[in-house]
Amino acid sequence: MPRIGKQAVKGTITLALPLIALAIVAEFFLPAALARLATLYLIYLTAVVGMQIYSGNSGIISFGHAGFMALGAYGSSLLTIQPAVMSTSLPNLPIWLAEISGGQPLMIGMVGALLVVGIVAALFGLPLSRLGGAAASIATLGFLVIVHVTLVASADITRGSQTFFGVPRGVSTFTALLMALIAVAVARIYRDTRGGLSLRAAREDEIAARASGVNVARQRFLAWVLGGLVSGAAGVLLAHFLGAFSPKDFYFNLTFLLMSMLILGGISTVSGAVGGTALIVVMVDLLRRLEGGVDVFGLQVPQVFGLTDIGVGLVILAVMYRLRDGLFGLREVDERLFPELVVIAAPPAQTEVSDQATLTIERVGRRFAGLVALENVSFAVRPGLVTGLIGPNGAGKSTLINAISGVVPPSSGRVLLNGTNTALVPVQEVPIRGLGRTFQNIRLFRNLTVLENVTVAADAVAGPGDDSRAAAMAALAVVGMQELASRAASSLPYGAQRRLEIARALALRPSFLLLDEPAAGMNPAETDALITVLRQIRADHRVGLLVVEHDLKLIMRLCDHIVVLNKGQLIAEGTPEEIRANPAVIEAYIGKRRAAA
Ligand code: ADP
Ligand code: MG
Repeated sequence: MPRIGKQAVKGTITLALPLIALAIVAEFFLPAALARLATLYLIYLTAVVGMQIYSGNSGIISFGHAGFMALGAYGSSLLTIQPAVMSTSLPNLPIWLAEISGGQPLMIGMVGALLVVGIVAALFGLPLSRLGGAAASIATLGFLVIVHVTLVASADITRGSQTFFGVPRGVSTFTALLMALIAVAVARIYRDTRGGLSLRAAREDEIAARASGVNVARQRFLAWVLGGLVSGAAGVLLAHFLGAFSPKDFYFNLTFLLMSMLILGGISTVSGAVGGTALIVVMVDLLRRLEGGVDVFGLQVPQVFGLTDIGVGLVILAVMYRLRDGLFGLREVDERLFPELVVIAAPPAQTEVSDQATLTIERVGRRFAGLVALENVSFAVRPGLVTGLIGPNGAGKSTLINAISGVVPPSSGRVLLNGTNTALVPVQEVPIRGLGRTFQNIRLFRNLTVLENVTVAADAVAGPGDDSRAAAMAALAVVGMQELASRAASSLPYGAQRRLEIARALALRPSFLLLDEPAAGMNPAETDALITVLRQIRADHRVGLLVVEHDLKLIMRLCDHIVVLNKGQLIAEGTPEEIRANPAVIEAYIGKRRAAA
């Protein structure tokens, strides 16, 4: 059962009301031509919302959703086509198909079509969801072309590039409204579910999302199939609205139109889909009238060929140039108008890490092409203690953190987390098994709120009934950031961004926490506050901390145990006193620093 947040319900209602009002006005008060335009708007909106589910949350622009509409249109029309027409227009229909085809009600057509869409979406989604960014976009373009070519080639079933006609026209304004409302509700609720939120996190930073326990490929797959079903349903309606169509009606022109609708409103939000689709439908209708030549107050405007396409193209250009996030930006209308108050609750009871937890680094090596970044490094991180990892620049500290967390697997040796070799489990499994981390170059989900950033990680380890937001608030409380919960992560000052990363890692309820230069860029007061927080994490939660730091004073104050790396090799290990007195360390690290000073 997906999490249905109060905010998502508010959002659905906020977007539903104008749509319902539009349908009522169109049905009872508008002339037929405008009522038709309203119905068309609701159908396009459903298609755009399907696209928003995938593209908006994953950040991957899709060229493929017109393909889903085509599958929906042809799949359903085969079932509902008038039997009298079918025998003449589709004489070569395979017998098994002819037996189930024709004369079925729209509802059966819808179910049958969505079955086909779902299967095709799943088959194509498996390889697609391994891809991100431009590669995934190009793959969706491939999907569109494949669907198109297949439809044209399957002339026995689709009449090829000829018009498929005789589809009963049974889509009223209210049928279209019902479907649009379902689409909007699905999309707005999905956005705030664990899946939707974690996909949006991956859109912001894929590496950080994996390090927070997000299975990016699985979430992309689910959004692709869900969005495909919604756009497929729009195709069913469009077919039964028009009554006749051909494959080219579901090709580049439609793709271009849907994209302009989504991009104008803003790809990130369902509100953007609702608004952008409305504006483009109105604009295209006006431009079409102009295109044919009109008479404005006696002034004869000549016919302008291609005005509509040029207009749509200019809108896309203008948005790309001026308003990257579209008219509605990154937040939903409901999130601006009626934001849910973040309750600052008392943190739940502390959970303690078991003393039996183990993290051992065994003879770990890592090469980059010819360069040996790590060689034969062995030591253990223990629960309830702070282990410092120091060494000059380029010593291999960050590489070691990456090797332990599975981001950059070791080329030799192994890392055992509670006995499991971390290189043998998927990267996003490592955090779930108890290993949180931060990054030397801060990696936040910049366009998500502070609370959302931490909730992503809390979700990754939450059981079915757990309240991830409360767990996230508790993690924020540890670093003293509860009051900032509803701020955008990108708006935080630098020190707070570092603390937010720590809170996000803590929300994984880790046994071990790896911090890569947590005090970098902090002033002395912020550093002192950080030390207090880290000591508290050690004391209250008995987390095993591994802290990479340049600031030797901080390391000596904080750490129970210190490991020294130099040129990829472990050169010393011991208590702060032992390290301070170790001649090899003084030469490799402290000596150099003194010389520099
Ligand atoms: P530290 O964190 O101790 O400053 P790093 O672990 O970042 O050091 O780097 C250790 C060495 O490995 C450096 O020489 C660095 O240039 C190299 N290195 C790190 N990551 C990569 C990579 N992805 N590709 C190639 N070389 C790398
Ligand atoms: Mg480093």
